Amino acid sequence: MTKLTVKSSARTQVLDITGQIEKCIPSGFSGIAVVFVPHTTAAITINEGADPSVKNDMLNHLEKLVPKSGGYKHIEGNSDAHIKSALVGNSTTIIVDKGHLVLGTWQAVYFCEFDGPRERNIYVELLKNE
Ligand code: ZN
Repeated sequence: MTKLTVKSSARTQVLDITGQIEKCIPSGFSGIAVVFVPHTTAAITINEGADPSVKNDMLNHLEKLVPKSGGYKHIEGNSDAHIKSALVGNSTTIIVDKGHLVLGTWQAVYFCEFDGPRERNIYVELLKNE
């Protein structure tokens, strides 16, 4: 398992971590990469990496769906972040072929921060093909 760290710089933010994940993969490795975020107010997803406005549209629309103030009971005051994390999900699985992530032309792996800014961990586990 490899542990990566990322630093968010805003309360909500989407960071492209595709390159960081690729660096964890030995050359020639083929199998599966599991990317997992061990946090309850952050998430992992795969989406369009070409047009940066897609990241902003995702964050803005999530904010409309789950506003910061919503009459939540959670005393910590970050229920919106917990709900967004649950909606987006805390892991993804990616096929790896000969040392490279198998992604579509427009796809990038995104770390999603919903309660930053802060330093976060991401775990990457590689499962080798027999
Ligand atoms: Zn909380």
